Amino acid sequence: EGGEEVSSASVNKSLFPIRNEDKWEDTSSYGAKKKLEAWFQLPNGEWQLGKVIKSSGAETVLSLPNGQVVRPKTETLLPANPEILDGVDDLMQLSYLHEPSVLYNLQYRYSRDMIYTKAGPVLVAVNPFKEVHLYGKRFIERYKRKSMDSPHVYAIADAAIKEMLRDEVNQSIIISGESGAGKTETAKIAMQYLAALGGGSGIENEILQTNPILEAFGNAKTLRNDNSSRFGKLIEIHFNSAGKISGAMIQTFLLEKSRVVQCAVGERSYHIFYQLLAGASLPLKEKLNLKNVEDYKYLDQSTCYSIPGVDDADRFRSVLEAMNEVHISKENQDLVFSMLAAVLWLGNISFAVIDSEEHVELVQDEGAQTIARLIGCNVDDLDIALTTRNMKVSNENIVQKLTVSQAVDARDALAKSLYASLFDWLVEQINKSLTVGKACTGRSISILDIYGFESFNKNSFEQFCINYANERLQQHFNRHLFKLEQEEYIQDGIDWAKVEFEDNQDCLNLFEKKPLGLLSLLNEESTFPNGTDLTFANKLKQHLSSNACFRGDRGKAFTVQHYAGEVAYDTTGFLEKNRDLLHVDLIQLLASCNCSLPQIFASKMLEQSEVAPNPYRSNVADSQKLSVATKFKGQLFQLMQRLESTTPHFIRCIKPNNSQLPAIYEQALVLQQLRCCGVLEVVRISRSGYPTRMSHQKFAKRYGFLLLESAASQDPLSVSVAILQQFNILPDMYQVGYTKLFFRTGQIGALEETRNRTL
Ligand code: ADP
Ligand code: MG
Repeated sequence: EGGEEVSSASVNKSLFPIRNEDKWEDTSSYGAKKKLEAWFQLPNGEWQLGKVIKSSGAETVLSLPNGQVVRPKTETLLPANPEILDGVDDLMQLSYLHEPSVLYNLQYRYSRDMIYTKAGPVLVAVNPFKEVHLYGKRFIERYKRKSMDSPHVYAIADAAIKEMLRDEVNQSIIISGESGAGKTETAKIAMQYLAALGGGSGIENEILQTNPILEAFGNAKTLRNDNSSRFGKLIEIHFNSAGKISGAMIQTFLLEKSRVVQCAVGERSYHIFYQLLAGASLPLKEKLNLKNVEDYKYLDQSTCYSIPGVDDADRFRSVLEAMNEVHISKENQDLVFSMLAAVLWLGNISFAVIDSEEHVELVQDEGAQTIARLIGCNVDDLDIALTTRNMKVSNENIVQKLTVSQAVDARDALAKSLYASLFDWLVEQINKSLTVGKACTGRSISILDIYGFESFNKNSFEQFCINYANERLQQHFNRHLFKLEQEEYIQDGIDWAKVEFEDNQDCLNLFEKKPLGLLSLLNEESTFPNGTDLTFANKLKQHLSSNACFRGDRGKAFTVQHYAGEVAYDTTGFLEKNRDLLHVDLIQLLASCNCSLPQIFASKMLEQSEVAPNPYRSNVADSQKLSVATKFKGQLFQLMQRLESTTPHFIRCIKPNNSQLPAIYEQALVLQQLRCCGVLEVVRISRSGYPTRMSHQKFAKRYGFLLLESAASQDPLSVSVAILQQFNILPDMYQVGYTKLFFRTGQIGALEETRNRTL
């Protein structure tokens, strides 16, 4: 015997509670010849499929793939599914449902380029990080004709259209996952299918062309993803009653604007800057006084200028084409590029100390001159706006001179505001083009592509907001798939074995409780003139330490127990990012520019803050601008409300490795993501439940005409029962509730086919 023995000290670390029926049975009764396999967990947590050599009740002798022989306690083993179930396309079909069997199944499929798998009603998509031949006209046609039914984004999009038309209910496709898991690609694939089926008017091309624009202005290379979306996006695609696309509306969430002025080594700022520098025509370059990437401090600081395999100049041409397609005029395009150039030049502005108190003035160099020309102001006004501040102190107006660091902050704040305003304005222009004269009277399908849960070594305000949003989305998911499910069974008198699921209400309360919740305390501290990140952290510790989801850490740090795991936040910069103030002096500068975009931006900013009667006189404390957290929470509630009124379709994207490489499947990484999004629980609930349901009336109306004997005079329940009998639907495949019929998966499909053939 060549195998070496290792100890089986490993404990079963599965977070997913294993049910008896999914456990390893006592196999002593099996004959010795019987080929039997079981899952064995290595001390590092990895699961391996071993061959059972001998089982004697308490201990089992197992041979691992590398020849090693182990003797674990039998109770630590998990049973393997029979080979015939290898790579089933719905995890619901697995006889034994536990973490290793799910991991194995996904890996089996992944290694064969079957990147999509159903987990009951949820689609799991594992990022291939390479081109897979699953898309395009031929495939769309197959899904449309239903000649292909393996799990696919197309199948989800198809279901959304069909259900929208059949049930006359708006639909949503909710895509979630970590950064780099494939959300944005998946959203585009779904849009392509909807455009192909609902196209015809030409508006579908316009809708598709919004992608290159939004990606250019809202995506950037990060360490995790070369094309990382730095904003959340909801696109609502409108359909008329004939199922044709009539328009669309885009809403964006929380653009990461700090990236414009600051970005980590190895990452890039927004794609559009590099695209403009690489792709602008000579006349445009001259007009904007464009230099090389390395000449701009905002871009140079990360020492990363290009992305392997990406031609920025080429992408720039695509963006121009896309802008034409969505009717952004040439003049407006030029204005957009002027703003971009102004932002770049702002980073190069420098200040000179002019007195013993470290006060500064603007160095009126090439950069300053160019900015003034691009935004349409004179250089002296730019100087004053960036280096002084009008204050009102006990009813007297005074002019305060700024120090270098204050002036640099003002400069960066101006750059961030200009960029964020430009982004919002672009989205507004796109929306005008997509909705012009096409009032949404019919139905819609919304696609949500929003940043997934984030947990880094250092987590700041951005992660705080993102993870809060994910708690809300997770609750929506839970509610839909678990709570409502159970309630509905109970309400309708259906026998139902309870399924436990993680409820994250406690964590949401931690964020949202008033007045003592994370958001309220943050807002309160943000309005205190003397509030600092440290006083904020101390307040949290003082008021929230009894909350089970909260832990105060050393100094300015605190930890939140999220549904997806613990995240330690560092409050440095929280207050400033939450206040997000552009001083009124700078807003006034923009308002006074003789260029339309800065003027528009300024009026938007003033609109958003409930400003004191005379904005010229007001200082920061006078203008009660909504805090970023408050605005975000508002957006989020509105989003949830909108989603609540739709039939949701969930897609969970999984990143199989952190290297953005094909064919690498890291078990632990996948497992952690599966745990985060409750995929196994969903499978269990679906396996034991009746996911398809229809009211007696609807069922009778829809299929009654298929009855051989006339059912005209009968009540819906009797008609329904007659249909069930005629079509020989087995008793354990359905249940009759007080108001509805409940079906196990796949039952309605056969009926629908007959109906379609008969119609
Ligand atoms: P996310 O939006 O979740 O951060 P992306 O959608 O940007 O992730 O995907 C990251 C990268 O993974 C893409 O740029 C692409 O290279 C690759 N990718 C994702 N989905 C697919 C797919 N279906 N086919 C091929 N490559 C994909
Ligand atoms: Mg993305």
